[in-house]
Amino acid sequence: MPKLSASRSLIQDLVAASRVLAAHEVLDAYGHVSARSDRRPERFFMSRSRAPALVTAADMMELDADSEPLPGDKRKGFIERYIHGEIYRARPGVMAVVHSHSSSVIPFGVTRTRLRPIYHMGSFLWSGAPVFEIRAVRAENDLLIRDRPLGQALAGTLGGHSCVLMRGHGMTVVGDSVPEAVFRAIYTEMNARLQLQAGQLEGPIEFLSDEEGRRASAANRGTLERPWELWKKSALARK
Ligand SMILES: [Zn+2]
Repeated sequence: MPKLSASRSLIQDLVAASRVLAAHEVLDAYGHVSARSDRRPERFFMSRSRAPALVTAADMMELDADSEPLPGDKRKGFIERYIHGEIYRARPGVMAVVHSHSSSVIPFGVTRTRLRPIYHMGSFLWSGAPVFEIRAVRAENDLLIRDRPLGQALAGTLGGHSCVLMRGHGMTVVGDSVPEAVFRAIYTEMNARLQLQAGQLEGPIEFLSDEEGRRASAANRGTLERPWELWKKSALARK
């Protein structure tokens, strides 16, 4: 296996991220998290095809700009690795990506109800969470992002947002660090759950305004280290 072009701390964060997201049930046996290389920014890392709760540093694969493993690495990668590679190509500032099938977001990808920030932890959703319709790109599909053109189309729908919903499939969120992508994945799922609950009560629902969203998301960025320390410690303490 070739030596990875990443700092040890990045790989450690990525292992922790897999386990944190599994512990929060954002990932189960499916879904994945990746990080852009901090040494060769055209490349990124994600584990071989393995359940995120079981991932260790030895499972990490280095993928090139086309989402393909480096020569000599014969391990099986995730089919949907093109989600990550094409977002890194389209968004140079994105340093980490989470793709999940987390259940509470699914209703928002298949109805006209938009996912909107219902509380301050979901404030990064203020700019919107567009829905990717794979049929618009490829009529004959199995919903999976299994090649570069589909990944490119998904990155196009994501645009400059933090989160893209995928109709009948799940979501993908991005961050400018591994902790931020993890934070956003966890709180997108929670925001979706709360929005579904609020929808059952007398409405209309009072969402955050764009201005509140902008301010609250900036405030959350400043305190990201606190949940990340907690999540990472408790995830790595579990065997
Ligand atoms: Zn998927």
